[in-house]
Amino acid sequence: MPQQALDAAPGVPVTPPAGPGGAALRDQQAAFNAAQLAMAVLDHDGLIVAANQALGALFGSDPAQLATEPAADLVDLCHDSRTWAAYREILRGRSDRIRCTRRLKQPDGQSLWAEVTVSPLPVPHDAGGGGAAPSRALLSVADVTDRRELQARLRHLQMHDPLTRLPNRALFFERLSGALESAAYDRTGTGRIGICYLDVDGFKAVNDTLGHRVGDQLLCAIAGRLAYCADQAGYGRRGHHLVARLGGDEFAVLVEESTGTEQLAELARSLLHALQQPFDIAGQRLSLSASIGVVERTATGTTATGLMQAADTTLYWAKADGKSRWTLFDPERNAHRMTRQALASTLRPAIERGEFVLEFQPLVGMGEGAVQGVEALVRWRHPQFGTLGPNRFIQLAEEEGAIVQLGRWVLAASCRQARQWQLEHPDTPIFVSVNVAVRQVWDSDLVADVAGILAETGLPPHLLQLELTESAVMGSAGRPLQALQALSGMGVSIAIDDFGTGYSNLAYLSRLPVSTLKLDGSFVQGFRDDEHPNPADETIVEALVDLAHRLGLKVTAECVESAQQAERLARIGCDTGQGWFYARPLAAEQVSALLSG
Ligand code: C2E
Ligand code: MG
Ligand code: MG
Repeated sequence: MPQQALDAAPGVPVTPPAGPGGAALRDQQAAFNAAQLAMAVLDHDGLIVAANQALGALFGSDPAQLATEPAADLVDLCHDSRTWAAYREILRGRSDRIRCTRRLKQPDGQSLWAEVTVSPLPVPHDAGGGGAAPSRALLSVADVTDRRELQARLRHLQMHDPLTRLPNRALFFERLSGALESAAYDRTGTGRIGICYLDVDGFKAVNDTLGHRVGDQLLCAIAGRLAYCADQAGYGRRGHHLVARLGGDEFAVLVEESTGTEQLAELARSLLHALQQPFDIAGQRLSLSASIGVVERTATGTTATGLMQAADTTLYWAKADGKSRWTLFDPERNAHRMTRQALASTLRPAIERGEFVLEFQPLVGMGEGAVQGVEALVRWRHPQFGTLGPNRFIQLAEEEGAIVQLGRWVLAASCRQARQWQLEHPDTPIFVSVNVAVRQVWDSDLVADVAGILAETGLPPHLLQLELTESAVMGSAGRPLQALQALSGMGVSIAIDDFGTGYSNLAYLSRLPVSTLKLDGSFVQGFRDDEHPNPADETIVEALVDLAHRLGLKVTAECVESAQQAERLARIGCDTGQGWFYARPLAAEQVSALLSG
């Protein structure tokens, strides 16, 4: 826009200079004035030189009155220092253009969203006067309120769950990340944050039995109660608690600026309480419960994913501990879980690397005190965690299925060792007793494995005993029973391990091809106290041993730790004993020495 045209404020009558350029100039000025877009020309100090009608209308004043007003005040350009600096550069003619969005107050009290643009105006060549013309800038202000509102509505839709109208997972994570980010700037580092991660117990059953419609209504009712409850709890505190539906029947409450675990515990208690009151939905009275995982920690150094993982683990504990409860995150329990995971993932390679070793614990004849056999007990020489006992990894191996491979190794190593002892002491052979896990019976061909290993090592079948737990053989029909019969038919002995801890049915056991009961250590420990022997325990054990003998079974007592226990067990009639009183689990060479001595 030519310079001269703007020297006087448009909107105010100006007299264009006479001459050939006059008409064109008038047209330009009229166009500027009539333009829909609100505009103003600024001088190098940022004062308005000329404003058009649209700008005047925007601010509810005569365009002429806007002249000499600082534009920066009008559209809030000093709002932040970066915009301000860039704006100054444009006025000096040294920079391109800036664009920013501002919320502007209109004279009628309404506010609008405006997109403000400031760009330098080219200085015409014929500016005249000889010296460099002072730079000018063009300000334009576009009303983008509708666009902003549409965007806001879209965002609301994107960030909320359509069913319950609660914030959804996306908004929850945004708020959580925002809270953690601002905590990172807090130099005191004392800010705390907390989450209650809630899952409705047995919600699937509601859906399955009453249908999705009822399920949806129930979810809405749950959402309402949770929101109300969190509202009450957050009342009067800075920032309200955000309640979100994370998906399905999972909800979370975010507590920014937590005051400590007690605040979170109280919130969790009240959430559970709120859900315990029955729901009346579709003419039905529904009762339900929920489980909550609670995590509370300092915000600095915490990540959103870390926090959610902890919450997830804790919720899992709450479920595993019996549901209908809240559980607080426990770092120690978590470390244990991590070790479990670390162990689980390295089990199979560890078998291949030969990290497992066997120890052998003598089984001693009660009468004469001679070693009749040994139980093979597996240990894991873990490169990182040291030597681990079977209680640390056998169950894991069962869950992972690695037990089949591990069990096969134990069986082969035990038989090889027993065969060696047999060759060393042909006159006093000892048997080896090997623990067999339930899954080995179900998931592998135990019979073929045993037959193969016996053939390979040359160990006579009568020098092998397999220990199975009650639960592995009880109710056995089909495969386990066939396996037991086949093994027994081969000449291998079967013992029931930890007898007395399961659903023992002695009469039933006697019909299986079982030869020995290993009386669980807890019975033996029952009469450890010599001052006050428990006559009931002794009576039970006595009756058990008596019955077992009459059914043709031998009895081994586990966990014999003292001479008194050994003496009483012998009196009661136990056939063999095992325990620290006789010997701890030993290395193979120690057993060899024992046999030679
Ligand atoms: P279990 O078969 O009942 O083995 C006896 C356990 O009692 C062994 O623990 C043994 O060290 C311990 N013990 C022996 N004498 C005493 C005593 O006088 N007092 C006390 N308090 N304890 C005594 P360990 O070696 O930790 O084995 C634990 C369990 O792990 C075993 O119980 C067995 O069920 C399982 N296990 C061990 N090796 C294997 C294996 O190769 N395969 C499978 N599937 N399970 C195994
Ligand atoms: Mg055993
Ligand atoms: Mg046992």
